[in-house]
Amino acid sequence: MNEPTALAVDDLYVSYGAISALRGISLNVPAGAIVTLIGGNGAGKTTTLQTLSGLVRAKSGRIHFLGEDITALAPHEIVARGLCHVPEGRMVFPQLTVDENLSMGAYLRKNAAAVAQTRDTVFTLFPRLKERLRQSAGTLSGGEQQMLAIGRALMSAPKFLMLDEPSLGIAPRLISTIFEKIVEINRSQGVAILLVEQNAKLALEISTHAYVLETGHIAMQGPSPTLRNDAQLKAAYLGG
Ligand code: ATP
Repeated sequence: MNEPTALAVDDLYVSYGAISALRGISLNVPAGAIVTLIGGNGAGKTTTLQTLSGLVRAKSGRIHFLGEDITALAPHEIVARGLCHVPEGRMVFPQLTVDENLSMGAYLRKNAAAVAQTRDTVFTLFPRLKERLRQSAGTLSGGEQQMLAIGRALMSAPKFLMLDEPSLGIAPRLISTIFEKIVEINRSQGVAILLVEQNAKLALEISTHAYVLETGHIAMQGPSPTLRNDAQLKAAYLGG
């Protein structure tokens, strides 16, 4: 990995009261890369993303985004720098329409023409959202809500996307569509991606580098093709 680093996490510790959720994790995402963070239930994947987006505070350790120390910044300041989080469970606004949800994603942007252009890009990527503009988000299928959550994130014109379990609760035939779109966003827009996934097989297929998180620490890391063939990882996460 010789590309410049987009995101650098150094020795991050996070606790919830007496519970230690992250115990010294370090990871790097090069500019333009797709990196995945895999691990079982309760390993600390969601906590990692929430800490990177400023929703949870680190006890110690540093986070650098495009060379700037963002460890102490507020969530809106982090989004304004181009680091955007698509949370687990999508978290679309169920009472608002698809259109209104997309507009919420652009709330920090001032240039209306640029926002309209991004909206067109989102519709090219997810034509289904354009067909359902006036529908309330809560009535969309799980897969459509995931498209909307990603579309809403794109509306902020991110340089970097963090996706938490995009395959969770989605019909199998839509999972491959979502993953194809993730790759397309990365390739066509140069957006770097940190992908948290329980579906290790898929995550390792689309990423260049992977980290395996176990009970709050990085147990293994390496190029994704190497990890795909690792016997220990296969037994633990890839169904043997
Ligand atoms: P999953 O795949 O099940 O979502 P995860 O890898 O994303 O798991 P986290 O949700 O980050 O794991 O949780 C890491 C640890 O921190 C777990 O032991 C969890 O119980 C604990 N934890 C997470 N959020 C809180 C909280 N708000 N208060 C207390 N403990 C928490």
